Order: sequence, then structure tokens, then C-alpha cells
Amino acid sequence: MEEKKFDLIVLGGGPGGYPAAIRAAQHGRSVALVEAKELGGTCLNRGCIPSKALIAGADFVDRLGAAKEFGVDIANFTFDYNRLAIHKDRVVEKMRTGLEGLIAANKITVYRGFGKFTSPNQIKVLGEQSALITADQIIIATGSEPRNIAAFPFDYKKIHDSTSLLEMKTLPKKIIIIGGGVIGCEFASLFARLGSKVTILELLPRIISTEAQEISQALEQAFRKTGIAVETNVKVLNVSSAEKGVSVAVEGGRTFEADCCLVAVGRALNTEKIGLEKTGVIVQENGMISVDERMETNVKGIYAVGDIASKWWLAHVASHQGLVAADNACGKDAQMSYKAIPSVIFTHPEIGSVGLSLEQAKSKGYQVKLGAFPFQALGKSQATLQAEGFAQVVVNEPTGEILGAQAVGFEAATLIAEMALAITNELTIECISETIHAHPTLSEAWLEAAFTVEGFSLSLPPRRSQHKG
Ligand SMILES: Cc1cc2nc3c(=O)[nH]c(=O)nc-3n(C[C@H](O)[C@H](O)[C@H](O)COP(=O)(O)OP(=O)(O)OC[C@H]3O[C@@H](n4cnc5c(N)ncnc54)[C@H](O)[C@@H]3O)c2cc1C
Repeated sequence: MEEKKFDLIVLGGGPGGYPAAIRAAQHGRSVALVEAKELGGTCLNRGCIPSKALIAGADFVDRLGAAKEFGVDIANFTFDYNRLAIHKDRVVEKMRTGLEGLIAANKITVYRGFGKFTSPNQIKVLGEQSALITADQIIIATGSEPRNIAAFPFDYKKIHDSTSLLEMKTLPKKIIIIGGGVIGCEFASLFARLGSKVTILELLPRIISTEAQEISQALEQAFRKTGIAVETNVKVLNVSSAEKGVSVAVEGGRTFEADCCLVAVGRALNTEKIGLEKTGVIVQENGMISVDERMETNVKGIYAVGDIASKWWLAHVASHQGLVAADNACGKDAQMSYKAIPSVIFTHPEIGSVGLSLEQAKSKGYQVKLGAFPFQALGKSQATLQAEGFAQVVVNEPTGEILGAQAVGFEAATLIAEMALAITNELTIECISETIHAHPTLSEAWLEAAFTVEGFSLSLPPRRSQHKG
């Protein structure tokens, strides 16, 4: 078995691991990257990218609904889900090839196999390239997988997790989504827009319960308008294969039938089988590894990033943590802050949020002011026939500092970047109202929301509060 020493080993090649490996290589370190499956991890192969490639197809089909308004007659178009799935596979393949090239260009040694600690500074890789590798600095980035739950006997044909659902080649006529979190809602929106009959079963009183109340309400309303049946406060007891599809039994005696179902009720962290007991690294009961703001574990020289290291299960958080860990492992001084994490949900309407919601700001004791603006009052939204939704900013009234922002509607995912920049840099609402925003663009929603906070809305009818200055 090959034995080799590196400056740094990264265990796991997802969006947490590979940016860490690249950053360390850029600092001039010799780096080994161990990956058991494909480079790019969940995000590129089984998560963000394939799901967004499918969602882009649904966006396109959706736009065809407005064709007539734009003078285009396409009365009898057909849609083939299998071809959309081919598009998805091509995108993933292309991105993965690009990533492999990037890793090679940075002279990172990739070990294809499953890595396991044998001591705090040694990892044994078993697989395509078995090896015993050592380093003084190790970054763990092993990510997560769909969780196996006894009540849901996955057969990956009718009873799916998110990975097998992404592999489906035909569009289900009827699908049940168990779990109204981010992943569940994105798939619900995707399939409903392509013509499937969708039912969401959610245990909690509202879907996307991690978002502000008004945001989940807006999404639920939009879902109902699209024809998605949203059942909240529903406890699923079990799922079984029926003759033609699946049958989902819920508490209270009701059952729901469909061609297939997606179980989207959480993920398991990959920290169990990687030999952490040989390192002294503390693992919490839920499988999460405790780290400090430098992303270092309780064992000096061992870092953890990505899904296994925080409650933010997002690719861009994993990547930022990876860069912080790599900088620190290379002798720099970097810290991770969670103050301005943009969080995006690719449903229709799209959702973007960052910082505190109104409720959160109030519960933290802030004296807050909310400025909201509906997209329907914007020229760009009307011109593109995408006028649904709103943007809002949460402001600390005494200082004007922006504490949070949320947007629901077309391009909300992109729009939220401006507010992430503002919150990261502790900007005040005045910084937004004094910034010239191009016209006609959707970003004017932030300008108008800022004017609303200041009581001088330009595009909404006057209210008494606006005349006080
Ligand atoms: C359907 C879906 C859609 C999503 N959409 C989005 C989105 O739009 N935006 C967003 O920000 N996030 C999204 N996410 C979440 C995002 O994919 C994760 O937060 C992100 O991938 C976490 O990165 P990571 O590096 O921590 O772990 P992962 O991406 O899971 O990567 C971990 C890697 O480590 C490897 N590995 C594990 N153990 C070992 C071992 N012992 N030896 C060698 N290799 C090992 C795995 O094979 C894997 O490649 C989505 C997730 C899903 C499931």
C-alpha cells in the first residue's frame, strides 16, 4: 500500500472539501483530496446542480404559458421529461469535468476511495487507490446523505429519497412529498409546474418553517394557486408500496395514494464510519462535529467544514467554511461568521432571505422597522410578466442598520446578494436609499423598500407616515 506525507489532507470532495483543497494549494501546500464517490459531492452530483437543471426546465415550460401575451403562438407544444433529465445529466457531467480539471491544475493529489482515520494525523484510503497518507493538518468534509428511516422502506423506484428522485426518467402523474422543508418544496414546485398532481405532507404547522412566517405563508398561497395540496400538522405513520403506486398512512386514519413519493425529512451526517474515535474529535449526539469560529475541532490541526459542522446545510456555507479552515491550516487567521448567510429556495415563486426576520429581530430585543415593496409596482416586473411577490428589509430603527431582508418572487435568489453585502458590511438603510439603482430593474425593489422605511415611498400611494418630515 502506498504511503505518503502531505502538508494537508482534505477528506471529502464536496463544496466544503474541494475549495479548501484549492485554497491550501494556492497557499503553496502539498494537498491530498480523498473522495469516495464523485468530486463535487452532494451539491454537484445529487443536489444543487441537478435539481436546478430540472427546475430551469420547469421555469422554461412556465414561461411558455405567457407566450401569447408576448405575441408567440405555441398552442400545441409537447414536453418530454426524459429529455429534461438528459439536460440535467449533461450539466452535471460538464461541471464535474471542469472541476476535475481545476483540481488537477492546482496539482492536488486525488485519492479515489473511502478514507478513515487511523490516528489524528493519518488516513487510510481503501478503494480505487488504496493508500496510507499522513499530514499535520486535516480537514474533514464528509457531508451528509439521505437518512434511512424504518417507516419509509425506500425501494428507489416508487419510494424515493432525493437522490433516486433526481434519477427518475419519467414524470409522475401523482406524487406525494413527505416533508415540506426546502428540498421537499423545491421538488413539489418542480413537478407541479411540469403537470404532476402534488401533495405535500408536513408535520409542522407550516411549510419551510425555518423561514419567516410571512414568507412561508406567501409560498403556501402560491403553491395552493398552482394546485399543490399542502397538508400541514400531518404526521406520516408509514409508507407502503401499493399495486400501482404508493400508499401513505397518516395519523387520524387517512391515507394518501400516488404513483410515487419523496421522503424529504432530513439527512444523516457522514461522521460515523470515518474512524473519529481514533482522533479524540468530539462528535455530538446528532453526528455533528463541534468546531470553533476558525473551523477547528477540539483536536489541534483537525478541522471540520460543511454539513457536518453547522446547522446551515448549504453549499456556499460549506465552501466558505472550507476556505476559512484552509486559511487557518496554512497559518493565516480567518474566522467564520454566520451573520449574513443568504439562503435561497428555488421554488416558484423563488425565495431569498438573509439575516434576521422581523420576528427574530424583535425577539432579540431590537426596535425594528420593516420596509416592504411589492414587485407589481415595478416596471421591470410588469414588462416581464413576473409581478408576483415582494421584497422587504428589517431595520434597526435607532441606528438604521439593516438586520435582515427577504424577497419572494422572480429572481429573488439573485436579488438577495445585495442585502447579503449590506448586512456583511453593517450598512444602514440610508446606504441603500442613496445608492442609484438602475431602471428598470428588479433591484429597485430594495431602493423602494428603503424609501418605505424612511417614510418617503416614491412608487406607492402616500400614507400619513410619509408626510411627517
Ligand atoms: C436535492 C438537494 C438540493 C440541494 N440544493 C441546494 C442548493 O440549491 N443550494 C445550496 O446551497 N445547497 C443545496 N443543497 C445542500 C448542499 O448540497 C449541501 O449543503 C452541500 O453539498 C454540503 O457540502 P459538503 O461538502 O459538506 O458535503 P457533500 O456535498 O455531501 O460532500 C461530501 C463528500 O464527501 C465524500 N465522503 C464522505 N465520506 C467520505 C470518506 N470517508 N472518504 C472519502 N470521501 C467521503 C462524499 O462522497 C461526498 O462527495 C441541496 C441538497 C440536496 C440533497
